[in-house]
Amino acid sequence: MILTAAGLAWVLCMGVLLVAGRYVTGWRQGRPAVIDWRAGLAALPRRYLKDVHDVVERRPGAGRMHALTAGGLMASVALALLGVLPFLQASRLYWGCVALFALAGLVGAVLVWRRRWPHKPPFLSGGRFYAIAPAILCCLGGLWFLAMWGMVADTQTGPVVWIGQAMTGVGGAALLWLVGAGPLKHAFSGATWLVTHTRPARFGGGRDTALRGIALDAPVLGCITPVDFSWNVLASFDACIQCGRCEQVCPAFAAGRGSTPRR
Ligand code: SF4
Repeated sequence: MILTAAGLAWVLCMGVLLVAGRYVTGWRQGRPAVIDWRAGLAALPRRYLKDVHDVVERRPGAGRMHALTAGGLMASVALALLGVLPFLQASRLYWGCVALFALAGLVGAVLVWRRRWPHKPPFLSGGRFYAIAPAILCCLGGLWFLAMWGMVADTQTGPVVWIGQAMTGVGGAALLWLVGAGPLKHAFSGATWLVTHTRPARFGGGRDTALRGIALDAPVLGCITPVDFSWNVLASFDACIQCGRCEQVCPAFAAGRGSTPRR
C-alpha cells in the first residue's frame, strides 16, 4: 500500500498550504493594512456560505455547480483527513459519509465539465480552466473508490485500493497544479479576501463604495505599481475566478474596445 485515503488527503492539504505560501509571499510586498482578524474570521462562514452564494446563485446553474463541487470536495477531503483516527478507520458509517460527499463533488465536477462542453460561453475563460473537471473527477473518483472499499472490506489493500490511491494521487497532484497555476487559487485567496475585506459594510446588503478622500501630502497619490496596493487588496485580485460577470456589464467591452475587466 502506498498511502491511505487519509495520508493522501494530508499530503494534498499540505501541498495546498505550500502553494498558498507562495502567493502570501507575493501579497506581503503590498502595503500594510489594519485588519480586524477576529471580526473577519467570525464573519467568514456567513460571508462564504450566504453572501458569496447569493451572488453566485444569480446564475442558478452556476450556484448548484459550485455548491456541489466545492462542498463535496472540501467535505470529503476534510473527512478523509480524520481517517487517521483508528476508530473511524473501522467505521462503515464514516466511510459511507466520505463516499457520499465525494459523490456530491463528482456530480458537481460533471456540471463543471458541462459548463464548457460542448460549447464554452464566450464570457468564460478556457485554457487551464478545462483541466478543473478532469482533475476533480480523478481525485474524488479515487477517493470514492477508497471509501466504498472501506465500507465493504476489512483490508486496505488489493487492486481496488491501488486504483483508488493512484487516481486520488494523480487527481490531487493535478488540483495542486491548478491551485498554483491559477484557476483554483481563488479557494484560499477568496477566503483571505472575505476575512480581510476593505468594505465589510457591503456584506448583508449594505453599501460601501470604498471611495476615500485623497491625502494630497502623501508621497504617492493612488497606486502606480502593484505594490502600492495594500496586501489584502492584492489578495483580492487573486480571488478572481474569471466568471465573466464584470465583462458582461462592462461598457468598454460592449463598445467593442477589446477591453475586458475579466482579463
Ligand atoms: S472580477 Fe469579473 S471575472 Fe473576476 S470574479 Fe469578479 S466578476 Fe468574475
